[in-house]
Amino acid sequence: MTARALDFIDDVLDSLKEKGLYRRLRVLEGEQLPTARFDGRTVVNLSSNNYLGLATHPRLREAAIKATLDLGVGSASVRTIAGTMSIHEELERRLAEFKRTESSLVFQSGFAANLGVLGSVLEADDVVISDELNHASIIDGIRLTKADRRIYAHRDVGDLKRALEECKEYKKKLVVTDGVFSMDGDIAPLPEIADLADHYGAIMMVDDAHASGVFGQNGRGTIDHFGLHGRVDIQVGTLSKAIGAMGGYVAGSERLRDLMIHRARPLLFSTSHPPSVAASVIAALDVLVAEPERIQRLWDNTSYFKSGLRRLGFDTGRSETPITPVIVGKGALAMKLSDRLFEEGVFAQGIGYPTVPEDKSRVRTIVTAGHTKDELDKALDAFEKVGRELAIV
Ligand SMILES: *Cc1c(COP(=O)(O)O)cnc(C)c1O
Repeated sequence: MTARALDFIDDVLDSLKEKGLYRRLRVLEGEQLPTARFDGRTVVNLSSNNYLGLATHPRLREAAIKATLDLGVGSASVRTIAGTMSIHEELERRLAEFKRTESSLVFQSGFAANLGVLGSVLEADDVVISDELNHASIIDGIRLTKADRRIYAHRDVGDLKRALEECKEYKKKLVVTDGVFSMDGDIAPLPEIADLADHYGAIMMVDDAHASGVFGQNGRGTIDHFGLHGRVDIQVGTLSKAIGAMGGYVAGSERLRDLMIHRARPLLFSTSHPPSVAASVIAALDVLVAEPERIQRLWDNTSYFKSGLRRLGFDTGRSETPITPVIVGKGALAMKLSDRLFEEGVFAQGIGYPTVPEDKSRVRTIVTAGHTKDELDKALDAFEKVGRELAIV
């Protein structure tokens, strides 16, 4: 090994710097709160996925502490050897009940859940049909299989139909979409997709990472929101966003769970959650049912903040959820807007290529149930000031 072998890294980093896309990690000092301290500055926090404030909820903390005292800090094995603890299975029963499915299986993260389920279900000679804006973990999960792949235009049911028609000859077809799209905050047309999947005999899979805890009764997700129980074969989601802890799940039939136990590589080859994680998620499910007012506050804050941004003249795209992008165009401008907002006391992450197309670079905002009107007004004032300064509005 020589130092020179790694010189390419300097080229990559220099090129990012030239384009204004080079980032340092922001460091959170303390808790993930609606107003929080990052890099020594106290800011209104519009960047976390802590939709309902569960990441800092006392009942989740206490559950994690109790499980740690009772059961230890780690499981010390993969699920398929010695790492299936009764608390993992209790969580899976609770999740299945919550999602109104026969069964569920929990993974280390939402990312791992997508890799696990896609790798279990898709074989050579199959085809997967995927929305062009699906999450990276779906894309990577597909890449790790030998199945053929088709991409349909974002939320375009006509294009999906065309793809399904082209793929009629495949014996096994899988249609996959995010429920809520993470960069635009728009919602997939699930009833229409379910009809098409039925018609063409395709397996239907929905990733509800940004919808669990946000949509549907008590946060049961988009399947519940659209009344599609029993019509979506594979529900994926995360336990790391609104649910407040860490992990991912696949909810569906018992035989799907059985298949994954034999095939899902993140389950077979990576250690299961510490008991504290399972315990905090069980507590989160209790809180979702016991404190539905959190979801109401989330939606009240969402409409207040979104209409405020629109009134100021910002382009918020197609968002219908607590994720509101402020689309500005070039990546460098999005990063500049984000930096200036931070100086004005607001943390909203700049997002550019390759996460979104270069000409759709943006600052992404996510409000939570815990934000007060004062905090949201402060954020809107900063957006107005900096937006004018940078000639965005
Ligand atoms: C965040 C996200 C994931 C990954 O979930 P993690 O638990 O953070 O790994 C998967 N899918 C979608 C759509 C997401 O937004």
